[in-house]
Amino acid sequence: MNQWEQYFRKVVPYVPGEQPSVPGMIKLNTNENPYPPSPKVKKAMEELDMDKLRLYPDPTSHALAEALSTVYGVNKEQIFVGVGSDDVLGTAFLTFFNAEEPILFPDITYSFYEVWAGLYRIPYVTLPLLEDFSVRKEDYYRKNGGIIIANPNAPTSLNMDLEAIRDILLNNKESIVIVDEAYVDFGGESALSLLAEFENLLVVQTFSKSYSMAGIRIGYAFGAPSLIKAMNDVKYSYNSYTMNLPSLWYGAEAVNDQAYHNKMLAKIISTRTWVIEELKKLGFTMPDSKANFLFATHKEIPAEKIFLALREKNIYVRYFNKPRINNYLRITIGTDKEMETLMSALAEILKVTSLTN
Ligand code: PMP
Repeated sequence: MNQWEQYFRKVVPYVPGEQPSVPGMIKLNTNENPYPPSPKVKKAMEELDMDKLRLYPDPTSHALAEALSTVYGVNKEQIFVGVGSDDVLGTAFLTFFNAEEPILFPDITYSFYEVWAGLYRIPYVTLPLLEDFSVRKEDYYRKNGGIIIANPNAPTSLNMDLEAIRDILLNNKESIVIVDEAYVDFGGESALSLLAEFENLLVVQTFSKSYSMAGIRIGYAFGAPSLIKAMNDVKYSYNSYTMNLPSLWYGAEAVNDQAYHNKMLAKIISTRTWVIEELKKLGFTMPDSKANFLFATHKEIPAEKIFLALREKNIYVRYFNKPRINNYLRITIGTDKEMETLMSALAEILKVTSLTN
């Protein structure tokens, strides 16, 4: 080992879902949207003035914050914009979680939380979800250095009602509570409505899922002006120009096209409804999903076996070999056609596997 290596920052990195590029594959493993972004985004791309790229982008992301402000009814000073919600959440961890007390989050949730905690040396305690994967709100009524809850949760897909979030806030007036709403548009209820009541609340959302723009990388947070200023101070101490110029424009176009956004959401929710019924017929059970994915387990066949068999057929879903969830598959809702192919593949796999068992 070289002398200097002892001074490297030791981290356990986040492992994102596979990004295979196999021709004809069906990709249901990273909760992307199967439909394209708004046609207004395409038009903006075609009209992009190359000369503009000579210049640095607006460090305040004004145009995008303005569009978000109008559509979501929040003042611009209450909006932070970042490179995907991962960037927004990472900045929030660095900005707010500096107490000696541990931060709190569920044992089964977005696995990036413990990665940021590790990176920034933030002490944390994970609190076990109940057997049915629901959050026991009372577990969060204890001294802490901050709280983060994904709602709907990932990978469980379960939503916690707003009253429970409110109770957690009421019992935690001295620390920052972050609600990660990456999937909220698919059936959850946003904590945005609690913003006026709680100055310690940060609501984080993304363009990656409901706006079909995972490749553009935009996330945003709503919070009290003092919270947003603190996040911007941290951001400007690291890199002022995080958001590239085209993405600020494309994001604004997407958010301004709420008619398209709602139409695509309705399509995914309707696909989710029939897929749930079909999966049940095949012997799967799953929590009540309010996200663009399902978290399914089969009564007889182990999840890993199904995962590998689907892969053989070029269908990618997500499998986590972790305690408590190693018999579940996380399946993103794709197009109707993709889900029909998935259903036939599953029916075939289950038939063959039960015959050979
Ligand atoms: N939060 C949750 C719960 C997620 O599942 C994801 C997607 N991996 C993110 C945040 C980050 O998404 P993005 O950075 O694409 O906005």
